[in-house]
Amino acid sequence: MALVLEFAGTVRHDGHSGLADDLATPDGLARWAGVPADEALRLRVVELRWAVRSLFAHATRAAERMDAPHLMDVERALRIVNAAAARVPRVAQLEWGEQPRLRHLDSADEGDRLLATLATAAIEFLAGDARADLRACPAPRCIRYFVKAHPRQEWCKPSCGNRARVSRHYHRARALP
Ligand SMILES: [Zn+2]
Repeated sequence: MALVLEFAGTVRHDGHSGLADDLATPDGLARWAGVPADEALRLRVVELRWAVRSLFAHATRAAERMDAPHLMDVERALRIVNAAAARVPRVAQLEWGEQPRLRHLDSADEGDRLLATLATAAIEFLAGDARADLRACPAPRCIRYFVKAHPRQEWCKPSCGNRARVSRHYHRARALP
C-alpha cells in the first residue's frame, strides 16, 4: 500500500463510538515509523496526518464522518503539508567511482526527515494520477480511504460492504409499517 494511505490509515473507527489511533503515544509513533519519537514530534506528525486527511476529504468530497472534528480547511492543510515537506532541504552531490552517481545529502534529524518523507509522499500522491481513484469508504462508521483496485470497488474491504448491506437491510426492515 502507498505510504500516504498507510499514514492516513493510522486512525480508524474503534468498533464502538470512538477512534483508535496508532499514533496516540510517542511509543506508538516510534513503533509505526521506526524512529525514536517524543511528544513534540508526535504532535507534529499527528497534525500532518489530519492535514493529509483533510486534503483526502476534500479530494474525495467525503461526507461528514466521525473524524470531522479533527479536519481543517484546505488552506491550512496545504500550509502544514508544504511546511513539513520543506523541513529537509536536500542538495544533489555528484560522486564518481566506477560510474558517476547522484546522491542527495541533507543535514536533517530523523524527526524532520520523517515529517518531510510523509509530506512528500502526500504531495506526490495528491498531485499524481492515483488521486482520481481515491475514495472515502462510505460504510457506516468507517473512516478509511482507499485507492480503487478495480472499477466496481465500493468499499475499503469486503467486511465494510457486508456491514453496509446489513445496515441497509436493517433500516429498510424498520421502515416497514
Ligand atoms: Zn471501510
